[in-house]
Amino acid sequence: MAVLEQSPYVLYSNGQGDIFEDTSLYAVGRTGWDALPVPAEDWIALPEGGSLYELPGRRGLGIDVITGEMRLCEKGWAVAAFIPPAHTGLYLAAYESGPEAPVLPLFCYTAAAWLDGGFYVPAVRIEQDIRQECGGFDEERIHQGVDTLLHAFPHNRLVKHLAENCCLTYHCPAARNYFIGRWECPVPSSPACNANCIGCISFQPEEESIPSTQDRLNFKPTPEEIVEFTVPHLQTAPYPLVSFGQGCEGEPLLMWETIARAITEIRRHTPNGSININTNGSKPAAVKALCEAGLNSIRVSTNSVQKHIYEAYYRPNNYVFEDIIESLKIARSYGGWTSINYFVFPGMTDSVEEYEALRKLIIDTDLRMIQWRNFNIDPDWYLGKIGVYETGESLGIKQMMMLIREEFPLLKFGYFNPPIERIKGNYEMDFAH
Ligand code: SF4
Repeated sequence: MAVLEQSPYVLYSNGQGDIFEDTSLYAVGRTGWDALPVPAEDWIALPEGGSLYELPGRRGLGIDVITGEMRLCEKGWAVAAFIPPAHTGLYLAAYESGPEAPVLPLFCYTAAAWLDGGFYVPAVRIEQDIRQECGGFDEERIHQGVDTLLHAFPHNRLVKHLAENCCLTYHCPAARNYFIGRWECPVPSSPACNANCIGCISFQPEEESIPSTQDRLNFKPTPEEIVEFTVPHLQTAPYPLVSFGQGCEGEPLLMWETIARAITEIRRHTPNGSININTNGSKPAAVKALCEAGLNSIRVSTNSVQKHIYEAYYRPNNYVFEDIIESLKIARSYGGWTSINYFVFPGMTDSVEEYEALRKLIIDTDLRMIQWRNFNIDPDWYLGKIGVYETGESLGIKQMMMLIREEFPLLKFGYFNPPIERIKGNYEMDFAH
């Protein structure tokens, strides 16, 4: 896409779901607590599958096209973009919150703007894999798949959960791909968690005003239930992988005995594909047991690779930041593929301290991949909850990515867990299938 020849304009909402551009103001972006001009080359057209949100009780910020002064857009409420998977936002939406502004639900709030008939966002496509492209989901095939697999596994509580809740209610892309018979199959297993993340998507305490986006699994599947539907998936799906640790559960490592028995049994039936776990990485000994059972890859989620910021957000029970580092090292010592699921927050992720800590983590753990994920959380609420009332110098997310890529050329960037064909084969494979 050609670089924009000028800054796009601020967007605002009239509170009735209508969005307009304000051509008296050039759009800016937010990083930490600061609003900044966005370099022209950082704007891309809002990708297909992206959405626009009105931000109630908030006024957008912009640069006056005549005076060059930063000021509020008084014409309506601020607007932000939810950018689709495979893209990483470089700046948050810039606004000022009024005293009555409600906490925003658990979505990402990337800057959004308008120019010459189109919406723009400051973002990069970080992943070529097309598994969550919204245009790739055929509703008819999904419903056929749900019918077929519910009949094939009539007593399997997990397949029933994936069908009724994940696929047909939450429209989870991973569950939809499972019922189409391709790529990554989700395997939730844990009703409990040993962390208390501020922005947990499967459990929000009653005193909080925002809902969790999914309900947490309320039963413990058996190894037999897991094996029954994952083995056929690994044997028949293109680029197959099964992933423990999903948004609709707590922490899978709390179910390590069940998962280890399932992995052992899966591998007795098929060598195909990759077996992955998405986890908070809290139990290194459990990770060791899963690697011995045949786990191929691990993805550890984190908002920061600095202990004090990590623990302020995760509020861990009976584990510490150092445990997640140890889990990455152990998985690597078994030759496993290791990723971090890195919640990107402009102004925090690209601070000089975070950059230095990330370099150290990559070196200490021989990390294989960073999944640069948009942080689905209200920016003011997050910074307030972790006690960050001012943010210092930051490198810029794009600049930080370039520095890490230059120093660690073998480290992969992406958004999704790679199939074994990428892990063991040609990582830059063609995805036009
Ligand atoms: S680790 Fe996951 S399930 Fe546990 S509190 Fe955090 S987001 Fe929620």
